[in-house]
Amino acid sequence: MNADRRAVTVVGLGSMGSALAAALLDRGHPTTVWNRSPHKAQPLVDRGARLAATAEEAIAASPLTIACVLDYQALHTVLAPVADALAGKTLVNLTSGSPEQAHEAVAWAQSHGVDYLDGAIMTTPPGVGTPEMMFLYSGSYAVFEAHRPILAALGDPLHLGTDAGLASLYDAALLGLMWSTMTGWLHGTALVGAEKTPATAFTPIAIRWLTAVTGFLTTYAPQVDAGRYPGDDATVDVQIAAIDHLIHAAVSRGIDNTLPELLKAAMVRAKAAGHGSDSYASVIEVLRTREGDK
Ligand code: NAP
Repeated sequence: MNADRRAVTVVGLGSMGSALAAALLDRGHPTTVWNRSPHKAQPLVDRGARLAATAEEAIAASPLTIACVLDYQALHTVLAPVADALAGKTLVNLTSGSPEQAHEAVAWAQSHGVDYLDGAIMTTPPGVGTPEMMFLYSGSYAVFEAHRPILAALGDPLHLGTDAGLASLYDAALLGLMWSTMTGWLHGTALVGAEKTPATAFTPIAIRWLTAVTGFLTTYAPQVDAGRYPGDDATVDVQIAAIDHLIHAAVSRGIDNTLPELLKAAMVRAKAAGHGSDSYASVIEVLRTREGDK
């Protein structure tokens, strides 16, 4: 069969699994689907998917099964009884979990003769099938390479390394970055909103600022790797003074300050550890150690 039109099975048809199956159908892959609640398959069947009566039948239909269910407990519930059907085939697991759960899944797959690749989806369902959206994978590079043409139907497939836990680890790190960024934006939006600036007016300015911030990250990354933080742009001492202005402006307008207080606390810890004259990148030195562990 044409490598770009190989058969695929998708197990799990929630919001994300349905989007994965739809993207595969759009690229012309013969797609077999299965879900605990079969009615969710109907829109996909209408687009040409084949609905299997059982998970076992679904897995038997294709060399590659992509699984995307709520969590690893659900994954285990679905796949443990059909491990024999998966033997000699490939399982790509796009269910979110921890690196430790990914390692356990690798061990389970190996013990049943299943080729396994772990993955994490860095988009929401409407972004699936868009080439710019990142799909992170980790584990066997041979498995990744063998199925890359199919995985490319879902988004841009990036292989992070042979440790299967890496996709989940990056996923957690990137979601942390997303939540920090979005909460910082919401805090700023609340602050300017107190003076009647609408979010739609503030946001284009905020986005231009984020472009500058990505430049700071690019400058600071080699400093982190080197463990040296020359304070030749803005020092931790200067940032502590600046965040006090934010806290003061927010207090004066009745805005919650939990986030800036948290950020200031990390800066103050960095200063106490001797980094007052260093760049903001030196804050990583206090983040690397849990406070209670010192
Ligand atoms: P969802 O819409 O709630 O779908 C959950 C899926 O898991 C359904 O297929 C559901 O089956 C199945 N499931 C739950 N418990 C089960 C069990 N005990 N036994 C068998 N099947 C079970 O969630 P989703 O948004 O598709 O998310 C699926 C995975 O993708 C999650 O790990 C999520 O973190 C990840 N993810 C989602 C997004 C997103 O934006 N939605 C983005 C990145 C990653 P039923 O239909 O029968 O309930």
